[in-house]
Amino acid sequence: MSAPPSTVNAATEIDGGAMDCGSGLLLMVTRGIRTVGAGEVLAIRTEEKSVVADLPAWARLAGHEMVDVEEQSPTGPWRLTVRRGSDTVFSTGGGADLGTRLWIYTNFDCNLACGYCCAESSPRAPSRRMPTELALEAVEQFAEMDGREVLLTGGEPFLHPELGEIVSRSAQLLPVTILTNAMVFARGNRRATLEAMDRDRVTLQVSLDSGTPEVHDRQRGSGSFARAMEGLRLARDLGFRVRVSMTLYDEDPATVAALHETLLSEGVPRRDQLIRPVAHEGSAQTGQHISADSIAPEPTLTVDGAWWHPVGVADPNLRVADSPLPIREVFATIRDAVRVQDASTSEGRTVFRCV
Ligand code: SF4
Repeated sequence: MSAPPSTVNAATEIDGGAMDCGSGLLLMVTRGIRTVGAGEVLAIRTEEKSVVADLPAWARLAGHEMVDVEEQSPTGPWRLTVRRGSDTVFSTGGGADLGTRLWIYTNFDCNLACGYCCAESSPRAPSRRMPTELALEAVEQFAEMDGREVLLTGGEPFLHPELGEIVSRSAQLLPVTILTNAMVFARGNRRATLEAMDRDRVTLQVSLDSGTPEVHDRQRGSGSFARAMEGLRLARDLGFRVRVSMTLYDEDPATVAALHETLLSEGVPRRDQLIRPVAHEGSAQTGQHISADSIAPEPTLTVDGAWWHPVGVADPNLRVADSPLPIREVFATIRDAVRVQDASTSEGRTVFRCV
């Protein structure tokens, strides 16, 4: 039997598949409604029945009009149509108060293959390198929006052959932090790249999961602790500010205390020691659940898109845009989503949790 014909014409159609409003659908709808003019209609196809109940609440909170729900069979799929409100004020993306930081994935390949890697990085991962000019254009646009800090991550950023140029030109505009496992820059060209960086404008954030090799090597591979410590010491000896981030499955007090002790003895102050849980993203089989309504946004760019948060770049539910530029549009989409979340919270609802 063929499906009944659609009765409402739409300027744009999007397919939400099996996503519900508690996962990535609202981000997809938020960027979809931004593409239609005032008074025009966005159509959303869905296979998830809870969307039929939840999307009208989103439309009302966002200032749009629910037009129709077409049901192809009692078990779906459904086609929902929403007319963009005429007096809806969309964010223009101006200002960078939203987090004030911009994350950029320079590449996805890495010398390690940590079991909890949220980016699914490894020596075999496609490099997905951010072209230098694209990265610099992003930083320039962010600086124009009064952004305050750029954070470069991956993958291992020092595997990007043009990292030095990205950093030196970015650092002329904004302070730069590079997240690194500190294992690959001790020698050769990468050592020269490191030495050329501006000590006043560049911070290195080294991943170290314990104060002794046991936990770190179990999570990151045999011998990795010793090389990370060698890199950390080198960076400090060269005069860089070094922060350390520790990723743990369980916050075991003894492991944490041992790391603090090790780092203090290395001259890394407590304010530069960050402990974070494993996120259940990417390669991780367990960890903290992440969603757009459970973590504050930290706009993040990859060569092929923009994301809600740097831990979510392997999660289609956290995709904000299909292109990293323009930055203004990335921030605007996130702001629109946050605005509806805030409106929902002020009504006392839990935000569109469907289960
Ligand atoms: S967690 Fe960091 S060091 Fe480990 S594989 Fe991922 S990017 Fe590489």
